[in-house]
Amino acid sequence: MSHTIMQRDYQTEQRAQAYIDEVFSQIKQRDPHETEFHQAVDVIFKSIKPALVKNPAYIDNRILERLTEPERLITFRVPWVDDEGTVQVNRGFRVQFNSAIGPYKGGLRFHPTVNSSVVKFLGFQQIFKNALTGQPIGGGKGGADFDPKGKSDGEIMRFCQSFMTESSQHIGPDTDVPAGDIGVGARELGYLFGQYKKLRGRFEAGALTGKSLNFGGSLGRKEATGYGTIYFVENMMKDKGLNIEGKRVVVSGSGNVSIHAMEKAIELGAIVVACSDSDGYIHDENGIHLETVKQLKEIENRRIRDYVDYHPQSVYVEGCSGIWTIPCEIALPCATQNEISGSAAQTLIKNGVKVVAEGANMPSTTAAVEQFIASDILYAPAKAANAGGVAVSSLEMAQNSSRIAWTFEEVDKKLKDIMTDIYHNCSEAAKAYSAPGNLVVGANIAGFIKVADAMTEQGVI
Ligand code: NDP
Repeated sequence: MSHTIMQRDYQTEQRAQAYIDEVFSQIKQRDPHETEFHQAVDVIFKSIKPALVKNPAYIDNRILERLTEPERLITFRVPWVDDEGTVQVNRGFRVQFNSAIGPYKGGLRFHPTVNSSVVKFLGFQQIFKNALTGQPIGGGKGGADFDPKGKSDGEIMRFCQSFMTESSQHIGPDTDVPAGDIGVGARELGYLFGQYKKLRGRFEAGALTGKSLNFGGSLGRKEATGYGTIYFVENMMKDKGLNIEGKRVVVSGSGNVSIHAMEKAIELGAIVVACSDSDGYIHDENGIHLETVKQLKEIENRRIRDYVDYHPQSVYVEGCSGIWTIPCEIALPCATQNEISGSAAQTLIKNGVKVVAEGANMPSTTAAVEQFIASDILYAPAKAANAGGVAVSSLEMAQNSSRIAWTFEEVDKKLKDIMTDIYHNCSEAAKAYSAPGNLVVGANIAGFIKVADAMTEQGVI
């Protein structure tokens, strides 16, 4: 390579890095308290320099500023009346982050920790995740700082109705399509949909996904995120001549994603030795009985500590973080953000973990991710590993608009194919951008290029 070409490449790289640094510093200055959002942006920005070097038009078009500023962030009051007749007020959010490749799409989270930083981090990641699915969906997210724990059915219904009274002005099958997330499952989606229908005066099934099968839901949606995560793990392991059978698996959480990740892992012959809720975790080297977990968490709304009453050979430990000290070959964080710290990652690696796949969104801290990559762990970032949920949500939209319903087997087959495609696209992008095996780089670059190209083609809007 001639000296002049090398110098020009160096200058382009310098320019790309300076641009990334400048935009990141503006973001931090503008909203200094939004630490989760900064973390999610940092993850993307650390990966995409080679894409900016290869295509400097992204810099000329100021793609990074445009990508990191939501198209719209809606904050609203959610007043409701509790069972004592007292008026309560929560704060609701919907971030409509990016519609370059389709209507905004992303779940609703009801949890006391929800704030603008949390919905922005989730909505930002959703843009790239949705792009990776190959489906025509943009990125959005929402929720409220409402705690469903300990609330009666009537309180949940009144809260959901109030939340939807405002949300209905902003969503719709071709505009913005919410779904579930932490604290929002089939019951909440039912109440949300009922209110939406009443306000609209018409049945627009495609305005929400994750619905009950009784009114337009898709078979396979409930299982999709957890099953999809395991299909992704299968692809990763297959590439290295490994398989899931007989491997010990630790799963955090015992909600929708965790339960279905455990179900598929067990079906494929793995031994799930631990799972948790937000109070603590259970551990049984002989394998957790999933039916008991389902009964306790899905049906009786009880705590995971009660599991030991039915299986006295198992152990319950109060507190969540200790779950990562349990030796396993496969770790599946499926609960919440930043649940694997740098030191937890170190312990997992020391204890022989081979695969870490993120069912939850951003469950590993930056320090943890760095250690997984440096130790050549097969590490599947959330954007890729848990994209199966939103992918099947998009299939639900397709079924709703064509007024047909696919069988479970049809949906599951499509999910499998989508997860295989996501794995291969991420893996190929990692290779093409000189980071073979690094699926963080692969997922970020593949997702970024698709969205950035669509934005470029649509002009400055
Ligand atoms: P659920 O509300 O169904 O379950 C969440 C689970 O995590 C519960 O068992 C909860 O315990 C547990 N949990 C919450 N906080 C903590 C904590 N600090 N430590 C340990 N456990 C905790 O939510 P989902 O399963 O739907 O979502 C889980 C994760 O997956 C989230 O990050 C979500 O964004 C992500 N995700 C979900 C998708 C979906 O389709 N549902 C799609 C893609 C990603 P408790 O019972 O005590 O509350």
